[in-house]
Amino acid sequence: MDRQQEFVLRTVEERDVRFVRLWFTDVLGSLKSVAVAPAELEAAFTEGIGFDGSTIEGLARVVESDMLVRPDPSTFAVLPWRGGPDGRQGTARMFCDVLTPDGLPAPQDPRHVLKRTLAKAAEAGFSFYTHPEIEFYLFEKDLDAQGIPVPVDQAGYFDHVPAGVAHDFRREAITMLEALGISVEYSHHENGPGQNEIDLRYADALSTADNIMTFRTVVKEVAFAQGHQASFMPRPLAGLPGSGMHTHLSLFSGEANAFHADGAEYQLSTTGRSFIAGLLRHAREITAVTNQWVNSYKRLWGGSEAPSYVCWGHNNRSALVRVPMYKPSKGQSTRVEYRALDPATNPYLAFAVLLAAGLKGVEEGWELPAGAEDDVWELTDSERRSLGIEPLPGSLSEAISVMEGSELVADTLGEGVFDFFLRNKRAEWDDYRREITPFERRRYLPLL
Ligand code: GLN
Ligand code: MG
Ligand code: MG
Ligand code: MG
Repeated sequence: MDRQQEFVLRTVEERDVRFVRLWFTDVLGSLKSVAVAPAELEAAFTEGIGFDGSTIEGLARVVESDMLVRPDPSTFAVLPWRGGPDGRQGTARMFCDVLTPDGLPAPQDPRHVLKRTLAKAAEAGFSFYTHPEIEFYLFEKDLDAQGIPVPVDQAGYFDHVPAGVAHDFRREAITMLEALGISVEYSHHENGPGQNEIDLRYADALSTADNIMTFRTVVKEVAFAQGHQASFMPRPLAGLPGSGMHTHLSLFSGEANAFHADGAEYQLSTTGRSFIAGLLRHAREITAVTNQWVNSYKRLWGGSEAPSYVCWGHNNRSALVRVPMYKPSKGQSTRVEYRALDPATNPYLAFAVLLAAGLKGVEEGWELPAGAEDDVWELTDSERRSLGIEPLPGSLSEAISVMEGSELVADTLGEGVFDFFLRNKRAEWDDYRREITPFERRRYLPLL
């Protein structure tokens, strides 16, 4: 055992931890958890813990179902919402790598997909950092008579709600995140009633993806404890804003921000410009991954500052990629914000395809096309066409069709994940198109 593993064993003993939850993520981004007794930890580190991979979305076929999880000791943390009042007799967690029975990384493990893509960036001399702005709704526990969720308040963007539940909620959630070692930079009420946003401090992409998985759990736990319900559904309510997860991306070479060039336009280096060019060129192909649900497209095509067209801009909130204002006080904080992502994505896979797309632009030295100065929703279709601005896929079905032809996505996800994902998403689309919606009954029954 190495020193980190020994540290975990010592901490478990000293803090009298009773259960250790081993966490991993399926291909669709759901968190999976198996609790082990402290006495099993040493074996978990050295041999791994076995489970039936065929019952987990996308992990293995029935014929090759035996798999192992091995905890990553650097992700050890005691869960602040479990255990006795003095913090003893608690529960801890570690994220795991999924292994085949031979102890090799399982190619279908989303965490491995991201690690492999990060290794490719490292070969080119880069490390990849991300900073997500995570939006979500807080609802009352029960649905209304029509089965529609009821937001906990009627507030809007940056509203300060006296005695509002949102303040208590954010305070408690952020306290827990900080206790788990996840730094929060900003938090505020968002545009929609009951809608909130919490922004995590930037970190290397693997930690950020782990942090997003933890975040979704913490937010759900705190909402539940306070008698409410939190949802990361991209567009839970018609006519009200969707929930996005705008993510700020940057590459570093050693200590230096590789997107930063003093005196350049927006302080953006050639590497930064080519990275954006790569994101734009592959945006349509990666959308099925960054926006993986039928419902994701209700957000992308529902206005409210969600992007619908492939273009970039500086401080242009209708653009897919935005280069935020440069803040000299923040040192080398140059970064690009990708605005399509929603908080119901699988963060490991999403970061992997974003990185692969950007890196491709850097490798090929692609030139950045002209930025969009106007509100791209206000333009006519032919104006957009003449500016070379393409729409993002309009539905999950279209997004899958575009992804099917993508060499970049196939290479990045690997064959197993790529095939499973396409099959699973086609089935989701088929289920959806068999539905008869309230819209159809409302619209057609009086008429037809
Ligand atoms: N809710 C918007 C989205 O879905 C973002 C709103 C904002 O942060 N300005 O992307
Ligand atoms: Mg924000
Ligand atoms: Mg926001
Ligand atoms: Mg933003």
